[in-house]
Amino acid sequence: MTYQNWLQYYNPYYRRLPEKEKERFLIRTLEFSSSKIFHFKDLEKEERIPLLISAAAVQLTFGLKEFRLDYFKNIYVLSQHYHYGLYNVPFEGHVSSDGIYLSWLNFDRAYADYTDGNNVGLHEMAHALTYVNFTVNEGRDEHFKSQFYTFTKTGRRIFNEMQAGRSNLLGEYAASDYNEFWAVSIEFFFERSLELQYELPDLYNDLVLLLNQDPLRPGVFIQPVD
Ligand SMILES: [Zn+2]
Repeated sequence: MTYQNWLQYYNPYYRRLPEKEKERFLIRTLEFSSSKIFHFKDLEKEERIPLLISAAAVQLTFGLKEFRLDYFKNIYVLSQHYHYGLYNVPFEGHVSSDGIYLSWLNFDRAYADYTDGNNVGLHEMAHALTYVNFTVNEGRDEHFKSQFYTFTKTGRRIFNEMQAGRSNLLGEYAASDYNEFWAVSIEFFFERSLELQYELPDLYNDLVLLLNQDPLRPGVFIQPVD
């Protein structure tokens, strides 16, 4: 029961799923979690941490066949934001060839406020998902890979408008780089679905088709998924 309780308490996406899909969600989450090695840096290991981080990935890929992000074997959990490389700004998370990095403090806060369109867990899993599909050849999902080209026609158009100075709800950071545009779109897709659908309907619809799920209709899939 503990696992279900943690998901129910901490993950709003899981909370809204119909019972049958909650079961599938838990099975996927445990499979994802057991396929990774979690490294804890400057914080104590807690059982709910791998579970909830895995749940962020499972949520994003819930409509896809391939959900384990196979290429990534290691997930590094840091206590809070950290410095990385030569960047001056502190990081809440990042994805590189050696793993997925997340600040637990920021991850936890992001799920506690699931309405502001700011979710580092979903953001980094979005980077990890494009990484396995386009940068390496381990854990690809055929539907995602082919549908991404359709999505990106709309995505690029909106991104280019943003770079030319037009602002929208995604905010300035999304205009900095197309990869960031993608990851921020995912945060809004899940946390502020209605507003994204209202303000950028083409983008919203293409995300529904790409991910084969619609956060406004929990547990409904465009095509059946096993
Ligand atoms: Zn990013």
